[in-house]
Amino acid sequence: MAKKWVYLFTEGNADMRELLGGKGANLAEMTNIGLPVPQGFTITTEACTQYYEDGREINQEIRGQINEYIAKMEKITGKKFGDKENPLLVSVRSGARASMPGMMDTILNLGLNEDVVDVISKKSNNPRWAWDCYRRFIQMYSDVVMEVGKKYFEELIDKMKDNRGVKQDVELTADDLKELAYQFKDEYKEKVGEPFPDDPKEQLMGAIKAVFRSWDNPRANVYRRDNDIPYSWGTAVNVQSMAFGNMGDDCGTGVAFTRDPATGERGLFGEFLTNAQGEDVVAGVRTPMRISEMEQKFPEAFAQFKDVCQILEKHYRDMQDMEFTVENGKLYMLQTRNGKRTAQAALKIACDLVDEGMRTEEEAVSMIDPRNLDTLLHPQFDVKALKAATPMGKGLGASPGAACGKVVFTADDAVEWANRGEDVILVRLETSPEDITGMKSAQGILTVRGGMTSHAAVVARGMGECCVAGCGDITMDEENKRFKLGGKEYHEGDIISIDGSTGNIYDGVIPTVDAQIAGEFGRIMAWADKFRRLKVRTNADTPRDAKKARELGAEGIGLCRTEHMFFEADRIAAFREMICSDTVEERVEALDKILPYQQGDFKALYEALEGNPVTIRFLDPPLHEFVPTEEADIKKLAEAKGKSVDEIKDIIDGLHEFNPMMGHRGCRLTVAYPEIARMQTKAVIRAAIEVHNEHKDWDLRPEIMIPLVCDVKELKFVKKIVVETADEEIRKANSDIKYEVGTMIEIPRAALTANEIASEADFFCFGTNDLTQMTYGFSRDDAGKFLDAYYDNKIFENDPFSKLDQTGVGKLLEMTIKLGRPVNPSLHIGICGEHGGDPSSVEFCHKIGLDYVSCSPFRVPIARLAAAQASIKEREERKSMEILLSSKSKKEKVLV
Ligand code: PEP
Ligand code: MG
Repeated sequence: MAKKWVYLFTEGNADMRELLGGKGANLAEMTNIGLPVPQGFTITTEACTQYYEDGREINQEIRGQINEYIAKMEKITGKKFGDKENPLLVSVRSGARASMPGMMDTILNLGLNEDVVDVISKKSNNPRWAWDCYRRFIQMYSDVVMEVGKKYFEELIDKMKDNRGVKQDVELTADDLKELAYQFKDEYKEKVGEPFPDDPKEQLMGAIKAVFRSWDNPRANVYRRDNDIPYSWGTAVNVQSMAFGNMGDDCGTGVAFTRDPATGERGLFGEFLTNAQGEDVVAGVRTPMRISEMEQKFPEAFAQFKDVCQILEKHYRDMQDMEFTVENGKLYMLQTRNGKRTAQAALKIACDLVDEGMRTEEEAVSMIDPRNLDTLLHPQFDVKALKAATPMGKGLGASPGAACGKVVFTADDAVEWANRGEDVILVRLETSPEDITGMKSAQGILTVRGGMTSHAAVVARGMGECCVAGCGDITMDEENKRFKLGGKEYHEGDIISIDGSTGNIYDGVIPTVDAQIAGEFGRIMAWADKFRRLKVRTNADTPRDAKKARELGAEGIGLCRTEHMFFEADRIAAFREMICSDTVEERVEALDKILPYQQGDFKALYEALEGNPVTIRFLDPPLHEFVPTEEADIKKLAEAKGKSVDEIKDIIDGLHEFNPMMGHRGCRLTVAYPEIARMQTKAVIRAAIEVHNEHKDWDLRPEIMIPLVCDVKELKFVKKIVVETADEEIRKANSDIKYEVGTMIEIPRAALTANEIASEADFFCFGTNDLTQMTYGFSRDDAGKFLDAYYDNKIFENDPFSKLDQTGVGKLLEMTIKLGRPVNPSLHIGICGEHGGDPSSVEFCHKIGLDYVSCSPFRVPIARLAAAQASIKEREERKSMEILLSSKSKKEKVLV
């Protein structure tokens, strides 16, 4: 039997989102629960995958089914494509499994040609509407299907408005729109080289293909990468009978949320435009009215809509984001989905749903995207400074957070300036999906036009980026890169500050302060901690970072990079003296200068951690990061060491490495210069003894971690030095302090020989930055230069340095655990590469049985939540497996 590629809305349901996409599954579900949905059908995500497998063609079998379903749809709606009495017009819209707002393409009013325009114009007695639909269709079809830029058509509209002396599209007459439609068709013919298609079925196939193609457009690819959505999923296509919001003043269209997507407050929130079609609201071309104002204009439709909102929220047990149209006073639902929301709103909604009895605590924890927490952890404006500042303008607080930076006017400039290390605010008339990379690079986004559901607002909220939208007081001159606001002219590079919560815009710099975990954030985190098994530690090199991480819930330090303790100007001098020594005596002399710094730092770290584990990684300085290159620094070093500049230069030349990342770093340094490990051990143990004497109740047990080990003999060699030195210190001080010696697993050979290494180690910690670098053979410092080409060519979907490669590097992790644990059952194992703060990697770490993940302080809450979600998911999967097995065994018993 042929595969089923197409489903009527009456044939699907909400559980079929993998096949029908989110939009298709929810249209089917709304149909099933009896809501007013214009009927249609969904072409499956599998058809999209097939389209790509067939070399970007829709094969005959799928075409056949589409035609069959057009006939079914015609029967259901009583309308027919191209009919002289009752023509069918449809929308063609994308809909992936996970919602990707604005990333793919949509076409409205499909099925029109001049004959059909005549029919609907007479039938409705509304020629203005008929021609408006046609000119919109030609414009959208040209842009989306044939990739003729929108701008050509917009120029023609602007010219027409100028000629007629009007400002708004709605002021154009039926004749103006008819003339525009003809001009559009001429434009199409000129650009495409053939006439605009009249046959609705031809139009439909073109549109479906275009939606499939849009799955692979650059902005969708970037969005997918940021949101962990696999390319292999594909998008479904929904073909739905049109409901018209642009037939006159008793019509309109809107977008609404059942709760405020910015704050999470309960109550209807949204926007509505009379006499308009969906894209007018989303594109922000006209500024819409608030949803509450709809009540006066359309009391009946509004009352019905409020009921629908309640039904949907109860049904989905989550905040809904809906699109709807009112056609001649009658309500039609075009879409519902779990609404995108700010992190703040996500926490409030999850807690409220628990309090309202709609969700369990576990479900609430699972509802929150850990990546979104990032926004809450980032700085807000300093309250005092904010009070003292006077806003120079105000827009809509579209996505919370505080941002301060230099003004840029194009997405490309945002990327370029950000790459130079500048903080920028992207200021635009309105944003479009092409701007996504620029929006991502900016600290914040400010737009002149558009409402809370405009592209800028929706995308910024999704990215967790501060955004102020629709500041109509700005007089913009994009071409000359300047704008006026509050009586001042701003140019590229001028500094402004924007507040994404209040919508306020300020001149100059306003200082920011760190966020704090409290209220709903604290509640969700407390629930998460109840459900997780994995511990979460932090990578911290300074007491300040360690304190911050503790506030954010870190349960220990998983990595203190001791070489990072020498970045400050006064310390780097001593460190360079140590590196550039050419005798043991010289080196010991330099190390003696370093020891007190280290001991003081370690003491402060132990104190900040109050008895929780502290892992101190011994020196691992890639030499090129530390040897002086500036003439003045070389001179200073020469003076300090009592050598000539030339002698120092000779030493530096001798230290030169062709490949410093694989050079004389990590434990290789100690093998050559044991005195380094001796000094560090003294510092670790002396500091620990001091703190232990002051806080006997703390279970202080420093973990000394040896980096870049590739062979058990290497570890044995270094460990011997550490143990001898530590035991001597402990004996001298007559202390009972305990310590551990473990190793990083960050070289493939260490993973491959983990059984041998485990016999010498108290713990393992995966350094997945180096392990990824060495497994792939990609330099971690340079891979960024060519990864884009890997994404473009679909070789990679993600950066393996950000998201752990579970297939390759992950296999090494699993092998290490399998080899190591039987040899040393008390071995504790963690991860401290960047992946320790990435949610999907945290889930993997949970699955393979690690004891902890360690990540940078601001990612600690993300890791806590991701760890809880991994536990909950595992439990759920186990439960369903048990149910499956028990029903299977019942069946078998019956058969026996
Ligand atoms: C690692 O390699 O993953 C690691 C944590 O060490 P570093 O980044 O300091 O090399
Ligand atoms: Mg490393």
